[in-house]
Amino acid sequence: MYDMKALYQAKDVADAVALRLQHPDAQIIAGGSDVLVQMREGKRAGVELISIYGLNELRGVRLEADGALRIGSLTSFSHITRDPLIQKHVNVLGEAVDQVGGPQIRNIGTIGGNTCNGVTSADSASTLFAYDAVIELTGPDGIRRVPIQEFYIRAGKVDIRPGEIQTAVLIAKDSYENTHGHYIKYAMRNAMDIATLGTSVNVRLSDDRRTVERARVAFGVAGPIPLRAVHAEELAAGQPISAELAESFARAVKEDINPRDSWRAAKDFRMHIAVESARRAFLESVKLAGGEL
Ligand SMILES: Cc1cc2nc3c(=O)[nH]c(=O)nc-3n(C[C@H](O)[C@H](O)[C@H](O)COP(=O)(O)OP(=O)(O)OC[C@H]3O[C@@H](n4cnc5c(N)ncnc54)[C@H](O)[C@@H]3O)c2cc1C
Repeated sequence: MYDMKALYQAKDVADAVALRLQHPDAQIIAGGSDVLVQMREGKRAGVELISIYGLNELRGVRLEADGALRIGSLTSFSHITRDPLIQKHVNVLGEAVDQVGGPQIRNIGTIGGNTCNGVTSADSASTLFAYDAVIELTGPDGIRRVPIQEFYIRAGKVDIRPGEIQTAVLIAKDSYENTHGHYIKYAMRNAMDIATLGTSVNVRLSDDRRTVERARVAFGVAGPIPLRAVHAEELAAGQPISAELAESFARAVKEDINPRDSWRAAKDFRMHIAVESARRAFLESVKLAGGEL
């Protein structure tokens, strides 16, 4: 059923890097919720695998000395949703990954796998784009950190070089501080379905909670890779909170998105969902941040 040539189990990160160099054609496997499904479909006949799943040093969420939030690449979705640091600082990420698959997938699937597969519908990705997350890779030359916008090269292709594995996802303090956000996954079914469109918004309000200091909005499935709608963000920055602002913010996302027709949904329908989701997610984010209309 699983046509595999060899399975190498990494003992630690250095061993994983060494195995990557010794077996350049081998594929990394973390939780396996993408890889094993592909193997079962016969797509990787005769594959060599390097398992990193036993590397506990890549699990968990903590704050770095500079206040950056560090999410180890093997941290599961269910862990992220329950983690107190995530709940306190980037509630929207926990909310987004709580909508992945079903409970079994959320227990086994990792944030590293979700970002390394390069898929635009990945439920963690739009929120990570909205927070300017940084991807940490460890390879033969040490650690390399890449902004997530550069990590995604094209659909299904990310910037992982020979010998490298992804070791963490980082969100800087000045990016997450005093923000509140909301994620809306539009899918054909409520569970066990990938997103027709994913929308992640977060806002930072002024001290009197009447003005939007900063608004961020990013989408999955609005283009071949996740993307930010910067025109909407610029429009909202420094503006007093109002229903009209929510409307114009939402309409402005059309400047940046480029969804396609697929069997799941037509381009025009995705455009419509993007505008409506942006409006609702903006209003909910403002509410969570203590703002009033
Ligand atoms: C039934 C089902 C439902 C699903 N529903 C959803 C959904 O609703 N939303 C969603 O976003 N996803 C969904 N998925 C997809 C999948 O669960 C996620 O993409 C998950 O995050 C993959 O993580 P993993 O650890 O299982 O990755 P794996 O399958 O182990 O790996 C995925 C890819 O990433 C690479 N990789 C993994 N970790 C690393 C690393 N640390 N360094 C370098 N490369 C690495 C692997 O080589 C592989 O190419 C679903 C999958 C299934 C089977």
